Amino acid sequence: KTFAELGVSQPLCDACQRLGWMKPSKIQQAALPHALQGKDVIGLAETGSGKTGAFAIPVLQSLLDHPQAFFCLVLTPTRELAFQIGQQFEALGSGIGLIAAVIVGGVDMAAQAMALARRPHIIVATPGRLVDHLENTKGFNLKALKFLIMDEADRILNMDFEVELDKILKVIPKERRTYLFSATMTKKVSKLERASLRDPARVSV
Ligand code: AMP
Repeated sequence: KTFAELGVSQPLCDACQRLGWMKPSKIQQAALPHALQGKDVIGLAETGSGKTGAFAIPVLQSLLDHPQAFFCLVLTPTRELAFQIGQQFEALGSGIGLIAAVIVGGVDMAAQAMALARRPHIIVATPGRLVDHLENTKGFNLKALKFLIMDEADRILNMDFEVELDKILKVIPKERRTYLFSATMTKKVSKLERASLRDPARVSV
């Protein structure tokens, strides 16, 4: 099926075309119909599968309907992944005035606080630095959040970010949509799934 046949709206079909994405990848074929219907999604997929598109497209489609600051938080285990995901959001959102902020360790807190003060639509973050901002950056909170995405959840948990994850889950709205992507389904991942997703659709490639 084409992106349009899966329910992707015209501005985002155009964005995919600009990026040279001729047709949806397997994980996109599997996840997009559920995600675009408003369901939570748990996806088993590796980097390289196109999973970023699988979660970014439904987030952006929903953002276009209800534009607001601090719409979506993407949690990811490493800085490199955070920058890659931020770039894909910006590429897909370049036609719609999207503002994304990447919040990772090893970068000046004050500069990041300024990026947050611009009220980005999307935050892509590693858990430790995000908690640092939630606790120390005046005026910053995630009370308006509509989407939580946990990418490479198995690696996030293996890197001992569980305390940070708990802190984040406590301060974001319960009423939200959540996508969890992981390369493997471990005990810790299924525990996180039970704690954070609601009746998710399961997809894998
Ligand atoms: P990811 O698995 O999300 O890290 O994506 C891996 C690479 O695949 C990225 O460079 C994407 O730009 C690219 N990509 C994602 N979706 C598609 C698609 N439907 N067609 C072609 N390339 C894609």
